[in-house]
Amino acid sequence: MGDDFDAIVVGAGMGGCAAAIRLAQGGANVLLLERGVEPGAKNLSGGVLWGNDLARILPRWAEEMPVERHLVRKRFGFLTTESAVSFDLDDGRWRAPPYAAHTVLRARTDAWLARQAEAAGATVVPAVPVERLNWDGNVVRGVVQGGETMTAPVTILADGANSRLALSTPIRPAARLSAGATELGIKEVYRLDAGRIEERFGVGPGEGHAEEWVTGLFPPGVMGGGFLYTNRDTLSLGVILNIGSLFSRGIASHELVERFRLHPAIASRLRDAELVEYGAKLISSGWASRPAAFHGDGWMVAGDAAGFVFSNGIVIQGMNYAVRSGLEAAETALASRTAKDASASRLAEYDARLERTGILPDFRDFESLDRVKWNLRFHTAYPRFATELFHALMSESGGRKQHLRRVARTAQRAAGISSSDLLRDGLSFLRDL
Ligand SMILES: Cc1cc2nc3c(=O)[nH]c(=O)nc-3n(C[C@H](O)[C@H](O)[C@H](O)COP(=O)(O)OP(=O)(O)OC[C@H]3O[C@@H](n4cnc5c(N)ncnc54)[C@H](O)[C@@H]3O)c2cc1C
Repeated sequence: MGDDFDAIVVGAGMGGCAAAIRLAQGGANVLLLERGVEPGAKNLSGGVLWGNDLARILPRWAEEMPVERHLVRKRFGFLTTESAVSFDLDDGRWRAPPYAAHTVLRARTDAWLARQAEAAGATVVPAVPVERLNWDGNVVRGVVQGGETMTAPVTILADGANSRLALSTPIRPAARLSAGATELGIKEVYRLDAGRIEERFGVGPGEGHAEEWVTGLFPPGVMGGGFLYTNRDTLSLGVILNIGSLFSRGIASHELVERFRLHPAIASRLRDAELVEYGAKLISSGWASRPAAFHGDGWMVAGDAAGFVFSNGIVIQGMNYAVRSGLEAAETALASRTAKDASASRLAEYDARLERTGILPDFRDFESLDRVKWNLRFHTAYPRFATELFHALMSESGGRKQHLRRVARTAQRAAGISSSDLLRDGLSFLRDL
């Protein structure tokens, strides 16, 4: 008996929409299923989108997709309870079209992408929370929802972090979703008129600013970072927390967002802004959170469901990997359709494509990133070190001037970093970051 579709894609996020668009453009009869009442309704990113990969399927995406602002400045810094040290990259290359990156709100972008999938010929059905994969022995042949089975020779799982479909199968043993490899993102959106955003962040109309902070202001042992991004007439603010470090601390995650939001370096930009939206989402980040396999008989897994989020404390990039892996899964599915073969050995092309396009190398090469990112000193001692160091360099105390070597030594002592830790961490930063 024939299948209902050539391919089924589960999840209309960035990865699933990209896959569905490419499949439809390639002439496949594709079904895109989304559990949210509409695509984007359940999605959440910071979010800065590095959208080069989208141009492969939508050459005019940057002009047509509802993006917020094009990025002209990125800030990275350290916060302590009372101070902040930060570095700005004002990159001239980002100021001229085609812009490198845009801030986005997923409710808008994903809904637009799903419409592009529909326009290309895909069947897009929202409000369908797929219950499980339809297994025929070791072979996946579509999905099951509400007692109904929809079949296809290839199913692409693009259902995001904590993929329920993958969790309940051999694709992703639950043990892999460990506290160390899983982060909790909490985000708030504040309305503020465009003119005030431009004045407070020093950007022109249409220009955007994004900042990431290592937040040395959480209770002892809690590790995480904060972000603040400019949208058209809203600000996206949030924290990303190491879940393991939250266990048994007795602190609610919203209190941590509040600490970040109320820090003077942040609060001054949020004055009179009105909270309009908030949400939380898991992030499966890095090599440790990868599934047991990226493909098998009749299935491939893409985007967050495959753990493709690169987050090192300075950047968080997941949407670009979701799009790229979704596209590579789609190309593989198109080739398997031509070959009339969706066996694991045919779909092994997907892994080869993940290698060739740099996705697997990016995650494998940075396998030890967590040694820096989740080094407790990075979240406690180094913010203190940075603020002490720059305080001494940038102020006048009435005493004698000191050479940098002495100033750094004093800051190191004030931050409680031993010389052996400093050496070890320095080597780790150079090697793992
Ligand atoms: C706080 C935060 C900040 C971030 N900031 C950035 C950033 O600045 N830049 C960046 O590039 N990335 C950022 N990311 C990461 C980025 O959001 C993800 O990498 C990206 O959304 C992954 O896309 P995806 O399509 O794989 O998954 P998702 O966007 O999660 O989409 C999965 C889709 O599948 C649907 N779904 C799930 N289960 C089912 C089911 N059973 N049936 C049907 N549908 C289902 C969901 O509703 C959803 O629409 C951030 C993430 C967080 C949480």
